[in-house]
Amino acid sequence: MTLKTPHFHPLVDQFSRTISYLRLSITDRCNLRCMYCMPKGEEDTAKHTKTGQILSHSELLSYEEMLRVVRIAVEMGMNKLRLTGGEPLVRRGILSFIHELFSIEGLDEVRLTTNGVLLPDYAERLYREGVRHLNISLDSLQPEKFFEITGRDDFNKVWQGLLKARDIGFRVKINVVAMKGINDDEFIDFAQLALREPFQVRFIEFMPLGEKSSWQKEQFIKADEIRAVISGTGHLTPFKSSYDEGPARVYALEDSHGHKGSVGFISPISHHFCDKCNRLRLTSEGRLRACLLNDKETDLKSLLRNGASDQRIRQSIRQTIIDKPKGHTLQSDFGETGRLTCRGQMSQIGG
Ligand code: SAM
Ligand code: SF4
Repeated sequence: MTLKTPHFHPLVDQFSRTISYLRLSITDRCNLRCMYCMPKGEEDTAKHTKTGQILSHSELLSYEEMLRVVRIAVEMGMNKLRLTGGEPLVRRGILSFIHELFSIEGLDEVRLTTNGVLLPDYAERLYREGVRHLNISLDSLQPEKFFEITGRDDFNKVWQGLLKARDIGFRVKINVVAMKGINDDEFIDFAQLALREPFQVRFIEFMPLGEKSSWQKEQFIKADEIRAVISGTGHLTPFKSSYDEGPARVYALEDSHGHKGSVGFISPISHHFCDKCNRLRLTSEGRLRACLLNDKETDLKSLLRNGASDQRIRQSIRQTIIDKPKGHTLQSDFGETGRLTCRGQMSQIGG
């Protein structure tokens, strides 16, 4: 009698999670300087390329390299892709790249996370290429505060971008990083925006990522506290969407005048969703990362640049999935130091 080799589905990890969603950080460059994302003092792109804080062009994966990884990942069974960054719209040639992505058989959707600054120029062309879902990051509805948070006076561009995306027919989610003492006075305004416009507003807990980020324990605010504030705007009912909402807990919101909208809460710190995590990330430096909040990475770029076969790349993706940690260990009390950061820089990992 011959023993059968056990069959492992290539995308199931050792904790029975099926990994179907790939996030690509296509560049670490950005046209904003959000205080919580970019290393402090990050002003001059050329200078920071020299000091290693921003990758040089040759250190970034080329579009051809990314297309190869995506094709292999899709052949293995992944079917969802999100482009992020840095700011994905600042990388030249992104529209042709998206066009090529849509020609990969088995890839149904390409979604995008953007700061929205370039959307007034890009929205129509993105829609034409087939993108239907946009996550637009916006932490303040006040132009002066927007400037304080992002270091750029670009609120109006983002706002115009949002309206344009709405008019074209994108499904738009607005990502708001919740920061005590910075934008907690605007949670109600954001909830009212969700009631007025067809945007799902999602509040994200502020995460201590990146050694040089400006994160402070005192600025952290739990998703449940945010929800308590929002409940002053109207009635919240847990909401089961036909779309994949990822890690967000989504609620229908209805006010006393019958206005309806939806809001979401993403709580990587206070309520882990690690047991349902279906993601793999490819950083702008070409490293596969199985957990946003764990610095372990697989160097795919070296394989890609040293003539590795598709089979070798597949093996490497498979091993990264097998090694995906059960969960991260950050707790909302942040231990004794109050500052348990991962070294990974958000602008390279892509959120
Ligand atoms: N530039 C694009 C943008 O801002 O949407 C895409 C990249 S950005 C790194 C992706 C998402 O990560 C954004 O929604 C941003 O607000 C979020 N983000 C960045 N740093 C964060 C942090 N420390 N905690 C929580 N969310 C963060
Ligand atoms: Fe740029 Fe997005 Fe980071 Fe802000 S959060 S600095 S927009 S990459």
